[in-house]
Amino acid sequence: MTLLPVAATMKRAYRSARLEAGRACTQESCTQVFARRAMTVPIAKLSFWGVRGSTPTVDPATWRYGGNTPCLELIAPDGTQIILDCGTGLRMLGSRWAAPNGGKVPETHILVTHYHWDHIQGIPFFSPLYMENNEFHFYSFRSKFLGRDSLKQVFEAQMALPYFPVDMSAMNAKRKFKEVDGGDSFEVGENKITARWLNHPQGCLGFRIETPAGTMAYATDNEPGDAKLDESLRELASGADIFINDAQFTPEQLATTRKGWGHSSWLEGAKLARQVEAKTLVLFHHDPDSTDRMVDSILRQARDEFDSVYAASEGMVVTLGAPGDRVQAHMPGTRTTLRREAQFHAKVCGVTEGGKDFEEETMVRDISLQGALISLKHMPRLQSELQVTMEAPGADGVQAMNLRGYVVRIDAGAEKGHVAVGVVFTD
Ligand SMILES: [Zn+2]
Ligand SMILES: [Zn+2]
Repeated sequence: MTLLPVAATMKRAYRSARLEAGRACTQESCTQVFARRAMTVPIAKLSFWGVRGSTPTVDPATWRYGGNTPCLELIAPDGTQIILDCGTGLRMLGSRWAAPNGGKVPETHILVTHYHWDHIQGIPFFSPLYMENNEFHFYSFRSKFLGRDSLKQVFEAQMALPYFPVDMSAMNAKRKFKEVDGGDSFEVGENKITARWLNHPQGCLGFRIETPAGTMAYATDNEPGDAKLDESLRELASGADIFINDAQFTPEQLATTRKGWGHSSWLEGAKLARQVEAKTLVLFHHDPDSTDRMVDSILRQARDEFDSVYAASEGMVVTLGAPGDRVQAHMPGTRTTLRREAQFHAKVCGVTEGGKDFEEETMVRDISLQGALISLKHMPRLQSELQVTMEAPGADGVQAMNLRGYVVRIDAGAEKGHVAVGVVFTD
């Protein structure tokens, strides 16, 4: 077949579809659509701002899942904003405050699981703390090493001279501190929060948040093996729509060299998710030494054990309570890269949402050194592998270019009956 006439037709179809999309957007903005839906169905939105454990990473081999340490943000259906942990991901979340319509709310509730560096090091870099109109409610436990007002002391210590250029007096926002103990339950807006102790050196709290849109359990930094605390974890995760669990080590490491370090594995998470009938498992707190390829392999193994699993990825957004599908994940677009429109004929092999193998011929529309945007009739599974064979014109005629990629996003396609699939090439 000749590629050029097809390419020209496709290009025309693509352009007119984009114009259509443009027109649709002027009639009703996406925010309006979301607001309208939110009025009818309670939807909660959970964003992952930092997913790496122990220490931030900037190694290019870890960019796809991300290098910032733990920070999550939950916007409940009633608009309550809850931040979980203050790792380096918190800085990025803070930058959004400064943006126009940056999701500002009058007060924010911040739950801190424990005082290890990776869970608090974003605090001094969280710009909203320096603005007097903001109000923050912090929740954490009384550490036996610090006594009363543990979290307040942690703030003061980490900003003491000479560790940081300004001290606490520069933080103008209103700050309130509440002590929480394992076993406590309290309400914030129409949401119920329950705290339970987890097995981790110097202590760590896990949180269960029940919203009208569904329930999430956040259990980072915990090691299985303590009967009482294993039971706490089961209580936290019981029937949760989203169960976020520590998956720092491999099952082999957990049984040998990393035993007693206070972390868990994908296998423990999958076993527990099945046992307590959690709907979706999110593997979290990736080891700083785990490259993206290693996390890919961990995720693949976990999906063999439990059907609905995601590996937490920086920028990932999970919505709860949407009609039809209670848990939906969305991945961030590829970060700024050099992109070019392209017209490659391609054959794509992958696995659908329902777990079936598929093969399809299509066109690659847009390509960068890191990935491509491909229009498909099939709906591949998010974070699954795709084999992409492209026909590329070379000096000796058309040649096949074989690439293996991971599905990082799925959007509505420009053509009817198609989805636009964002792929990041892995080799
Ligand atoms: Zn940690
Ligand atoms: Zn820790």
